[in-house]
Amino acid sequence: MKKPSNPLPVGKNDDIRLEITAFSALGTGIGRYAGFTVFVDGAVPGDVIDAHIIKVKPTYAVGIIRRVVKPSKDRIVPDCAVADRCGGCSFRALSYDAELRYKKQKVQDALTRIGGLDVEVREILSTGETAAYRNKAQYPVAMTADGKTLIGFYAKKSHRVIDCRACRLQPPAFEAILHVIARWAAAYGVSIYDEESHTGLLRHIYLRKGFATGETMVCLVTLRDELPHADALIGSLLETDRSVCSVVLNVNPDKTNVVLGRQCRTLFGKDEIEDILCGLRFRISPLSFYQVNPQGCELLYKQAADFAALTGSETVLDLYCGAGTIGLSMAHKAKQIIGVEVIDAAIENAKENAKRNGIGNARFFCDDAAGAAKRLQQEGLRPDVIVLDPPRKGCALDVIDAVAAMAPDRVVYVSCDPATLARDCKRFAELGYHAQEAVAVDMFPRTVHVECVTLMTRK
Ligand code: SAH
Repeated sequence: MKKPSNPLPVGKNDDIRLEITAFSALGTGIGRYAGFTVFVDGAVPGDVIDAHIIKVKPTYAVGIIRRVVKPSKDRIVPDCAVADRCGGCSFRALSYDAELRYKKQKVQDALTRIGGLDVEVREILSTGETAAYRNKAQYPVAMTADGKTLIGFYAKKSHRVIDCRACRLQPPAFEAILHVIARWAAAYGVSIYDEESHTGLLRHIYLRKGFATGETMVCLVTLRDELPHADALIGSLLETDRSVCSVVLNVNPDKTNVVLGRQCRTLFGKDEIEDILCGLRFRISPLSFYQVNPQGCELLYKQAADFAALTGSETVLDLYCGAGTIGLSMAHKAKQIIGVEVIDAAIENAKENAKRNGIGNARFFCDDAAGAAKRLQQEGLRPDVIVLDPPRKGCALDVIDAVAAMAPDRVVYVSCDPATLARDCKRFAELGYHAQEAVAVDMFPRTVHVECVTLMTRK
């Protein structure tokens, strides 16, 4: 006979009083009710709240805030009208000081608990600028049942579009561009993409701005390679914002969560925009990765350069190099830079960027990091420093093994996910690399994301 399981302390639709004691890794408030874990979005550690339970699982429940009974000393009034719905900012109700403390601790916890590492995370770096720091936005477009066009961001853990054209993280000028596109779509009956049925033309609006040059790129992501009345759109865009120097169509025919397709067609102006970072001029195509917070990025790259401790005689391998920015920013202090990146357009940018900045000691090639690392190692390359900057999922095991086999003195690991960073550092530790220093960098204020750069040295 099945044993009756213990009744859970909360049930669906219960109203409970809860003290929030921590944040989850996703920035959700956590409280314990009779020892049982309850997650509440938008709640801040130190808050006492009345929560309404909307979901109960065997090991946890999920609640929503009915009322903040006693606000945490770290609670602030959100300065965004969609803060409670939009999935972009997790920390609109939290003071920035508290956010920085939380982020530093998040990196520390990951390195200690996941990585089992004995390294003390240094003081978190921040530019202090928490608004309009992003140079890039990708807005999903959707249509409501009653024919209203929504342009904004996805709600948390969902693909429901929250209309938000005046996001505080983006350059204020982006809002007017969105209005122009919305008016053009309405005037010419341009159909809006529907995820479910995989029909409709306009999927995303992707805007990018070079902060130092002022140049703006407007990219429309469509299901098919067509854009009706493109001339009218371009005319209105130029009338509204004179910094628009590139209008691009990106075609994404797939039923996928990935925003951009592989094909780009320039409709007006330049194929790429330019920006200046660390004193160098960079060209960036729509498909190339480019750090979204350029001021924060300079803090990050400076820290990475400090850890690399170059004297002029070193060979540096920059794996996951994007448009070449990290390696090129270090080139004047190294003997040679070798960059590897999987996106072809980014490698083309990297080569061009080296040339345009008069950097003769850098070469780049397009390859998967694992394949490239293995090949370079077999060819006998012995870099003194290897810089790693992988996407959130971290490095493949093959990459770590090949990097360690090349036996660099230093590995500088730049990461946007402390959990995969910690996992990978643990693997490096098994291969003789000791995590010596770690610094968190707040590249993404008001969101749950945090960047980290770690120095590993050969034991
Ligand atoms: N270092 C760059 C880019 C970092 S983002 C900068 O600071 O701007 C991570 C980069 O890794 C992206 O450009 C992405 O295209 C690339 N990438 C992702 N998977 C890869 C793989 N398996 N091999 C090589 N590069 C990869």
